[in-house]
Formats: sequence, structure tokens, C-alpha cells
Amino acid sequence: MRVTRLCALGTGALFAGAAVVSLQGQQPKIGYDDTPMQPNGKWHIHDGKRPQPRIVTPGATVGAPPSDAVVLLGPGGDGSAWQMSTGGGALTWPLKDGVLQSAKGMIETKQQFTDFQLHVEFATPKDVKGDGQGRGNSGVFLLGQFEVQVLDSYQNQTYPDGQAAAMYGQYPPLVNASRPPGEWQAYDIVFTAPRFKGDGTVEKPAMVTVVHNGVVVHNATAYQGPTEHKTIKPYVPAAATGPIRLQDHGNPVHFRNIWIRPLKGYDET
Ligand code: MG
Repeated sequence: MRVTRLCALGTGALFAGAAVVSLQGQQPKIGYDDTPMQPNGKWHIHDGKRPQPRIVTPGATVGAPPSDAVVLLGPGGDGSAWQMSTGGGALTWPLKDGVLQSAKGMIETKQQFTDFQLHVEFATPKDVKGDGQGRGNSGVFLLGQFEVQVLDSYQNQTYPDGQAAAMYGQYPPLVNASRPPGEWQAYDIVFTAPRFKGDGTVEKPAMVTVVHNGVVVHNATAYQGPTEHKTIKPYVPAAATGPIRLQDHGNPVHFRNIWIRPLKGYDET
């Protein structure tokens, strides 16, 4: 817990933590400019001139989009943020009251992204059919290439790197945080796109942190390459940006409340 120290000065000013609050109507001085520079040489420690972070109003309830989110599918949404992955035609998946049902063909956002926070809610079929990879299979493909698996993994065994929340074919989730079939579940995903050098080789791989129903299942883990069944594709510079894609795997999986926040670096307002 941070302790705020208060001490009165002879000048009539009052220190409240790092801020100097004038009692005589002058502009308060924030922070310090006589402290050492940070290792990056840009800011003093406690530098008051450093840009203040933008204010974002959190969603009214857990899972609701914050004020700066791009809503990709909201309550009563019309699906206009999405298109079919093949051919780019209008969405053909059934959509009712803001709930999409996976059907024939992959779908993807019209907008492209690089680094982002993504919230997705899904429910696998309440009427359980099939087993293993055939039960409630869909997927969230980041940049259209890196899958976070969607599957009914509630009392349904399959290969670990293919169960719900797996970085498909690469890493199983740290734990299985699945809810029963038919119940709404959430993925909160923080993703950093890969970076490439001028010669096309990888400078930094794609990184992902995934929270499944409030439980961390990947902690800043690097994708070994774009997702593929039974193999891992090599990185190519075209993997640097892309849409959010939802998979058709022949099972009717429902999606709702999907939003995304493109991420910038520190001090970029
Ligand atoms: Mg899948």
C-alpha cells in the first residue's frame, strides 16, 4: 500500500506525494525535474512532463466494452464489422439479438489489426454431440493466422494442444478453465503482432496472453509460427497484420460481445 506523506513548508506549499500543491493559487507543480534520467534517456524518474495516460472509462459491468473499444459485435449488433473470409462477401452466419452462430465458411473482421486487447464470449452447443475435436470446435484466429482454440473441453478429452484455449498445435492452456457446454465463456486476449527485419526474418515473434473465464492460461507466450493442423507454418512478413477470424469447424458455436482495443506504446496518447 502506498503511503502518502504530507509535510508543510514555510512557503505555504504542501507536498502531497509527488505533487506540490500551492496554497496561493499558483499552478501546482507535478513531479520532479531534478531526479536522475531513466535508462531510456527520455524521462526523469517521476517526470511531471511525461504524458498523462488517456482516460478510459471501464465498461459498466465485467466484460462490457470500455470507452475506447472498437465493438465488433454488440448487443443487437448487425454484424456489419464482419465479412466472409473467402471472397469478402456479406456475412452468412445466422445472427440474432447480437448472437452469432458459426456456420459454413470462416468469417473475419473487415478491419485489420496489429497489437490489441480482444474480448470474445462464446458458448459451445448445450446439446452435446461428438467428442474430441468434433465437440464445439471453432477458433479465434488472431491476425487471421494464430489460433486460440474454441472447443467444448468440459469432460471431453483430446490432445492437450488442441483443447479449449490452446495455442492450437503449439501449447495447451496452463489449466483447463472451461465451463459446461451451453454456458457463456470469455476469452480476454492480449496480443502483440510479430515484427520482421528488413530481410524478412523474424525480429520478434507474435506473443499472446490469454485469460479464460478470469483464469490466466497463457502468459506472454510466443507463437512458433502461424497455426496449421498437424504442422506449424513458418513466419513470413505478411503475418505482421490481419483481421480477427472466427472458424467454421462444422459445429454450431455461439459468439457474442466481441470488442477490441488496438494497443499503442507507453506515452503514445
Ligand atoms: Mg478450432
